[in-house]
Amino acid sequence: MYWNFSLLLHPKFISMEIFVEKFGGASVNSADAIRNVEHILSLEKKKRVVVISAMGKTTNKLENIVNKWFNEKIFFTQQFDELKSYHFQIIDNLFENIKDKSADKSALLENVNDIFEELKQKNQIIPSSDYNFLYDSIVSFGERLSTVIISSYLNLVGVNNKLVYAYEIIKTDNNYRDANIDWLQTQNAVNEKLIPLTEEYDLIITQGFVGGTKENLTTTLGREGSDYSAAILSHCLLAKSMSVWKDVPGLLNADPKRVEKTVKIVSMPYTEAVELSYYGASIIHPKTIKPLENAKIPLFIKSFLQPEEKGTVICDSGSVNPIVPNFIFKDNQILLSIMPKDLSFATESRLSEIFSLLAKHKIKVNMMQNSAISFSVCFDENLNILPALLNDLEKDFSVRYNEGLQLVTIRHYTLDSINKAIRGRRILIEQKSRITAQYLLNKDVKTSNN
Ligand code: ASP
Ligand code: MG
Repeated sequence: MYWNFSLLLHPKFISMEIFVEKFGGASVNSADAIRNVEHILSLEKKKRVVVISAMGKTTNKLENIVNKWFNEKIFFTQQFDELKSYHFQIIDNLFENIKDKSADKSALLENVNDIFEELKQKNQIIPSSDYNFLYDSIVSFGERLSTVIISSYLNLVGVNNKLVYAYEIIKTDNNYRDANIDWLQTQNAVNEKLIPLTEEYDLIITQGFVGGTKENLTTTLGREGSDYSAAILSHCLLAKSMSVWKDVPGLLNADPKRVEKTVKIVSMPYTEAVELSYYGASIIHPKTIKPLENAKIPLFIKSFLQPEEKGTVICDSGSVNPIVPNFIFKDNQILLSIMPKDLSFATESRLSEIFSLLAKHKIKVNMMQNSAISFSVCFDENLNILPALLNDLEKDFSVRYNEGLQLVTIRHYTLDSINKAIRGRRILIEQKSRITAQYLLNKDVKTSNN
């Protein structure tokens, strides 16, 4: 459940306005990228709490290490070595321009080496039966490495900052891998630990994606969770704004990898952003908006390549500007058509049986439709879950399914935008409301841009 603690428990009096900014993996994936972060921070003098993700594809590599260790009891030394040399190379490149600091460089290398030694020690832990616990204790190293390196580098080049460990501030339950925020404890930690530091330092650096239990065991907030971390901190600090630095100029009306001509959205209300992330737009983590909306904190999405450009603002007021069709594509969809075996009608009580099975298997429904004798439901294909679900359903129902489908959602659709999305493909289901049109389509055989 979500609590608005800014009403129940006020942040301690903050004498200055605080800005929360998030740098994702792509914005810190090389020494040049990190120098660009330094440049962005120099553009304006203000008090910042900066949330940073793991560098580049580090999280994926750490996931591979966990999986190999958990499933095959093999510690993935190749990926470990690659990660180590990747981070060491970044440090080397960062120090190319600051030659007189060789002692500092050695100290940082030693520090990072120790972190890798600690990571390696994880192979002393017998892969516990709790995959999620193991996952969090290993995958969180990505953010730890990036923040240690970036904070040290910035201090050396005169950008005075304090590194704060997220597990001490973002307090969660022990639902490893998808931990839930303990808002009261988090607000307390922000008041007691973070706010005093913001008085002392203009720049605080912390890890995205990572939290900690009461006992200070590391948790994570779900993939791509750094946006959410920044939103939590923004909420608890009553930040002036939150900014997310991306490799796109702002929120676009479609993924530029799929659609040739995209349009940048200048502004949109929180409600529209929630709708977009509900339908699967991947630019913002779905949990990000609520904590901002409750405290009326505007969210800026900006390009780290063109930091002076305006980007997109998501805020309390106004309508979507400009109103253009907004396309959201979801691949690898599966459509189940479920019919009672006795050919009785698909009545409410039968539907409730189906829904309880969907809930039991943690299926998130993307689209559904019912007729007199059948109920159709579309969701993300997941081969780990499907056989068990089918097994349960087939006790009372006959089930047919189509795989490899694509779900296209168009907000603010026009006839033209629909034609563009469908392009003569076979439609399995079509649904339209005043604002949203959705099409479940067979695989694009003709003109896929991917
Ligand atoms: N590093 C994590 C991930 O790649 C969290 C994030 O980047 O938001 O999922
Ligand atoms: Mg990332």
